[in-house]
Amino acid sequence: MKDQHPALAKILLLVPRNGKPQPLMNMNRRFLNQLVCSGALLLGVAQQVLAADTAAVSAQSPAEGIKYINKQIPSIQPIVPRGQSYNDLIPDTLDIAERAELAVHGLTGPLDPAYDYELYWATKLLHNPPLMYHDLSDWCGLKFVESLALLRSVTGSDLNRQVDAAWMQVQLKSLGPDGLPYIPLEGRPWARVNVPYPIVWRADGTTTTVDDPTVTQFTHPFVIGRVVRILTIYYQQTGDPRWKAAVERMIDRSLQLLVDKGDYGYFPADCFEPNARVSPDAPQPVGLVVMDSDARLPQSLVQFYRATGYEPAKRLARKLINYVRFHAKNFDAEGRFTGRELDGVEKHFGGEHFHAHAFALLGMADYAEATGDRELAAFVEKSFAWARSQGSRTVGFFPEFLKQGYPTTETCALADMIALALKLTRGGVADHWDDADRWIRNQFAENQLTRVDWLEAATATLPRQPFTLKDIIWTGGNQTSGKAVPEGMVTEERVAERILGGFAGWPSANDWMGGPLGIMHCCTGNATRTLSYIYESMLEEKEGQLQVNLLLNRAAATADVYSYLPQEGKVALKIKQPLQRVRVRVPEWIETSSPEVQCTLDGRPHPFAWQERYLDLGEAKPGQYLTVTFPITERTIKEKIGAGEYTLVLKGNTVVSIDPPGKICPLYQRERERRGELNWRPVRRFVSDKLIEY
Ligand SMILES: [Zn+2]
Repeated sequence: MKDQHPALAKILLLVPRNGKPQPLMNMNRRFLNQLVCSGALLLGVAQQVLAADTAAVSAQSPAEGIKYINKQIPSIQPIVPRGQSYNDLIPDTLDIAERAELAVHGLTGPLDPAYDYELYWATKLLHNPPLMYHDLSDWCGLKFVESLALLRSVTGSDLNRQVDAAWMQVQLKSLGPDGLPYIPLEGRPWARVNVPYPIVWRADGTTTTVDDPTVTQFTHPFVIGRVVRILTIYYQQTGDPRWKAAVERMIDRSLQLLVDKGDYGYFPADCFEPNARVSPDAPQPVGLVVMDSDARLPQSLVQFYRATGYEPAKRLARKLINYVRFHAKNFDAEGRFTGRELDGVEKHFGGEHFHAHAFALLGMADYAEATGDRELAAFVEKSFAWARSQGSRTVGFFPEFLKQGYPTTETCALADMIALALKLTRGGVADHWDDADRWIRNQFAENQLTRVDWLEAATATLPRQPFTLKDIIWTGGNQTSGKAVPEGMVTEERVAERILGGFAGWPSANDWMGGPLGIMHCCTGNATRTLSYIYESMLEEKEGQLQVNLLLNRAAATADVYSYLPQEGKVALKIKQPLQRVRVRVPEWIETSSPEVQCTLDGRPHPFAWQERYLDLGEAKPGQYLTVTFPITERTIKEKIGAGEYTLVLKGNTVVSIDPPGKICPLYQRERERRGELNWRPVRRFVSDKLIEY
């Protein structure tokens, strides 16, 4: 267990320990400012908030009314990541571990303790009062289960630990008689709201619709894909063969459901009851529905294949990838995204859905890497390069839908692009470190909600409005407007503080609030997973060698990295284990072999050799202190991003000013960074004994 951060302990004294904590919006302004000055400080408040909710529902939990398919489950031990934690002082620059710690709050705050910590999948923030609500898309909570396990391993955080065990039990209670995971429709009043896939296949081979009250459980390839991944992580962390056996069963059963055409196969773009039989004549789906079903499995299957060598996982992944790539009309031969004319949602928004396509590429990238398929890797690289040209390569803005001048990005799209950049680079297909660095420092870092003080001003003068089903985000789901809002679907309880650490659903280039809604939590799920990819990729430690790929703060077993960017052109390494060789990548704006780069060892000039974009600093011993310094200057550029034309000031790769500025929750409030004002702050660092291989 991590010790409490000293600053956090101080803040907790200010928060009432007994009874209900004060809503954050009512706290005085100075206290609020104290809170928003550091992500770590927010966590204590969040812990109190969720604890209070739990107490309120302990008497008679509506969760008891949820009709899970599996009532008898074995007892399971919650997973506790192991590692070393210690106090340190670090430069006050972007710190991915701290963002991950805040993200643990973002993953455990917007939940409904009354319903087994089910996610409230979306918010409506420009509303008086701000609210969040449930619907079918709560199944994005499966992404949260995956990310929470990953980020516990990165941070060692115990925040809201009770959620993990509850979620593990939900996974077990959802396993049906045929081995697939099932979503219960009874006992969750909003379960049939906004279902985009209304057809349900039954055990007798007929179909009905999701509104049929005799349908009480269903699954969908999206759900199967996510649960395969969750159970794979549980298996990787515990070695418990029961998790492995459960996934093998899931894959075997999925192969039975597949309409198998030899070198490719597909699922009907529908839902399935337990033991469903699918007609081999089921029509071949095309367009976006395929990206939400068939394309959601391959990455999970490859992860399981990598962890266990289970051959059917690889076979199913290959058939689905071939279907998505060659038969579903979502990519042309050049890797460009296609299909906008095929689907109601894409037609409605005027272009292809970026994230759906990019997510499919991630599955292909992982498959190509795991199987050594160079042709497929080259296709992914070609498609990635094209996708990159559809947005801002400077900041990492990729439009939610591919339409000229589309005003907002979706964090999911950016999270996918960063993940692709990292995977293609680490797989040796291309070198995208500089893209990743720019996108992480700019739109990605800004898309995480790190303060909520703006929300009060943004909503105070709005008229108080009731919530209706017309307010829900349309995802192509069944018609629900005119019907009553199901009981328990909406909450107004301390929404702002519960979503801290989550990621924006519709940010523009200059404002976290690019639209009235704020968050759809697919974005929090995908972005938090990408936080784990970034953390894992920043540096590589193997066989007595350390290679630093991204110049960001990072604690590690071999060395701790201190980044002064963008305030100063400097990075320092405190060596902790004997190293035969240390390599550090130079940033994008420094030319290879530049005489302006300098290194020191314990304060004295230190020789080094250039190896393409890396400096080879030679060997190093525990206790030694290495620094690399280089110039960093400001430049101003004009760029059209989304619907606007912007003047950006960049210091190195970091945007330190954008004009015009945002109006509601403006991005890039980085005057301090621009002035070069560097503060040191105390943190609790954590080094995991073993990160989950991902
Ligand atoms: Zn999203």
